[in-house]
Amino acid sequence: MTNSTPYDLIIIGGGPGGYTAGIYAQRAALKTLLIEKGIPGGQLNNTDEVENWPGTEKISGADLAVKFSQHAAAYDLEVMNREAVDIEPGRDHHTVTLDSGETLATHAIILATGGSPKKLGIPGEDQNYGRGVSYCAVCDGFFFRDRTVVVVGGGDSALEESLYLAKLAKQVYIAHRRDAFRAGMILQKRVLAEKRITVLWNTVLAEIQADGQGVNGVITKNTVDGTTAPLATDGVFVFIGFEPNNSLVPAGTKMNANGYVIADDKCETNTPGIFVVGDLKEKYAKQIVTAAADGCTAALAAAHYVEDKKGGE
Ligand code: NAP
Repeated sequence: MTNSTPYDLIIIGGGPGGYTAGIYAQRAALKTLLIEKGIPGGQLNNTDEVENWPGTEKISGADLAVKFSQHAAAYDLEVMNREAVDIEPGRDHHTVTLDSGETLATHAIILATGGSPKKLGIPGEDQNYGRGVSYCAVCDGFFFRDRTVVVVGGGDSALEESLYLAKLAKQVYIAHRRDAFRAGMILQKRVLAEKRITVLWNTVLAEIQADGQGVNGVITKNTVDGTTAPLATDGVFVFIGFEPNNSLVPAGTKMNANGYVIADDKCETNTPGIFVVGDLKEKYAKQIVTAAADGCTAALAAAHYVEDKKGGE
């Protein structure tokens, strides 16, 4: 069944970009629906401390997520806890299909589906997911109190999460494939000063090993000379970047070679009435604040789009 009066705007994804879009859309008096399949906040919930959200020196990712949803609720944003499985662009209106089979008509759509953690693709990774292999330190770090973990990656996420894990684990190894981190300088300094963290430079994992209890070791491989060595560990945390969640992007909508959606300075894609915000969008800085800024831009642009469209009907 389809709603008889189309929404002005459907936002898909309830991270910082989606919720900011929702707040601005409500302020612009658009008939708006936000669809989120999980808990509010998206990747924010996998972040321990947020220290670069202006006006708040330090806040946990989960607390900031709650604040976003409360702020949107104060504007009476309609939120549906469902999964959108398809988008069909149309001349009259676009159609969003839900996992229940129900379809929803809308004039404009903001895609705010973000990204998911990349996997290493090595033996033992999938088999031991949830049994020592994790992509979320905040979710699983507790299980490694006074134990040994290996973190893979050299970006902001790997270093931030290593610092979090160092508060719990007795030993944190960071395996990074190069001899220099990608992460920002502040994080680098903190990591190098942390006694419980040892950096394994020029190192990747070739295999994750386990016994009946879960992960008990890895095989490391030196990226310079190719030598391999066993390393005992109770857990492996993988932070090697994200892949865009682009499965809903309609056919014909331009994406770059890595699957990020290309949009103009109004966050509008080449498919009229389809906007994109946050980590799904091709851009230089993927930050909470830039996702929120995208949400603002897209909602204001969507309001103009809907106004023009209705004016022409
Ligand atoms: P990222 O910046 O893309 O870093 C990924 C890291 O993983 C890089 O060090 C990369 O090595 C390494 N890597 C990639 N593929 C690998 C593989 N197959 N095997 C081994 N290592 C691999 O990803 P991220 O750290 O998740 O951050 C994503 C975005 O969010 C970034 O823009 C980041 O700045 C932002 N972020 C910001 C904050 C903050 O500001 N506090 C916190 C978290 C994330 P190379 O360096 O050799 O490429």
